[in-house]
Amino acid sequence: MNDALQLEMNFGTSANRWRECLNNGIFSLLIEHSAPGRDTDPGAASERLAALEYAVLSRTELPCSLAITDRYSFTDCWRTAEYAAALAPEMRDRHVLYLSGRGTTPQEMRELLSLCASAGVFNVVPVTGDRFPDEDERATRQRCFTEDVHVLKQLQETEHSPFFPGCVVNPFKYKPYDMFMQYFKLIKKLNCGANFIMVQAGWDMAKLQALRWYLSYRNLEYPTIARLILLTPERMDKILNGAWPGIHISNDLQNSLRKELSYSAKQFEAAQWQRLALQAAGCRLLGYSGIQLAGVDTPDKVKIAVRRVSEALREYSSFEHWITEYQSYMARAEMAPFTNSFYLFDQLLTRPYLDNTPRLLNFSRPELSGRERLGYHLRRFLFPSADRQPAGDRRLLKKLFAGCSGCRRCRLPQTFFVCPERCPKRLSNGPCGGSTPRGMCELNPHQECIFSRVMAYAEWQQALNVLEEQYIEMPFQEKTQS
Ligand code: SF4
Repeated sequence: MNDALQLEMNFGTSANRWRECLNNGIFSLLIEHSAPGRDTDPGAASERLAALEYAVLSRTELPCSLAITDRYSFTDCWRTAEYAAALAPEMRDRHVLYLSGRGTTPQEMRELLSLCASAGVFNVVPVTGDRFPDEDERATRQRCFTEDVHVLKQLQETEHSPFFPGCVVNPFKYKPYDMFMQYFKLIKKLNCGANFIMVQAGWDMAKLQALRWYLSYRNLEYPTIARLILLTPERMDKILNGAWPGIHISNDLQNSLRKELSYSAKQFEAAQWQRLALQAAGCRLLGYSGIQLAGVDTPDKVKIAVRRVSEALREYSSFEHWITEYQSYMARAEMAPFTNSFYLFDQLLTRPYLDNTPRLLNFSRPELSGRERLGYHLRRFLFPSADRQPAGDRRLLKKLFAGCSGCRRCRLPQTFFVCPERCPKRLSNGPCGGSTPRGMCELNPHQECIFSRVMAYAEWQQALNVLEEQYIEMPFQEKTQS
């Protein structure tokens, strides 16, 4: 990813209505749409997109635009950068495009960015990407994942870059190390030039507030967009079956949903609109700059969504009114996945903004065992500068003491001697968002996400700042593709 990005632009304009909305604090609504499968007829796909875009842009109640996701619902789909050509040229500065690093080499990512620039689409959100739904750990290891941090870094280093990039975070983590690693990686992405934050979907409003409070606590007043899902029974099943890694439904919420479903499909749908509208109003009161709605995939639904959200925004103008209604509607259902789930602050959802009263909550740190400490010292003694030496040096020792599986650039000293090749996506700058609520790997429910170990060593070494300040270059791998 060191090559300079070659941008070919047709649009010399610096106008960017999405950026203006964010900078002016105007609450916006993004309608999520997935780039279609490659087996879809391009003419029909373009027509559908044009109809959706028209429905979105013709709403006057509040600023609306599209967020087009990449490689999310289909394994073999049009890349968003190609699909964006079907958007109305004069409106492209209103929309946001995701770019997935899944099955994408750095070279391909550069080409996708060039396509975006040529098309005049500058609001991009690089994501590392999830596993393919039907793939196991072994198959995933064969794929290349271009980590979002690398894309942001490259854009940051490109002179006169026309892009206005954002980044993603998943705050719905309930084990302390798992949660902190999400925050540390978020700050690394902001340091690498992200201008706004897209938040993974979830129903736990306390977690959404904790993220806003953490950003305030660190004086990072970046615009934040919450992703909300309009649930259907099928989407609920998908989430419960783990088809969308990193998204969880608590047991209490699951029970409420099943109860709603037991009445009638119509009642279930009505209950979901009500829940979505309440969540949307809550997001604005918690300081979010907008919401991204998933599951609103037809012009008719767009109309309903915009009406319901704008009514809720009007109705709930005070935090006290909203929280009373929200808690009564949710019947005080527990949104955490298990008892003793970790929240960073106390007094969440008792007031809208962080003031001096809330406290950072402490947590019990799992002690590193004597064997782990000894292993760390040994690896540090054996490989102190492995990142500056040829990767093949001392490979056998690395295999024995660090589980090295052979890569083209050793990063051991930068990852507290936890080999990043142990992560099935080979990430080194921090975790993806897909871990389970108990902090287990998205691809292997029996293995803890490797970044919880990285944090344990960093904390023991009193070097937590490294986790957000140090950018780790990519290992120049251009592997098998989709
Ligand atoms: S080890 Fe962690 S970062 Fe890597 S794939 Fe698993 S959950 Fe994601």
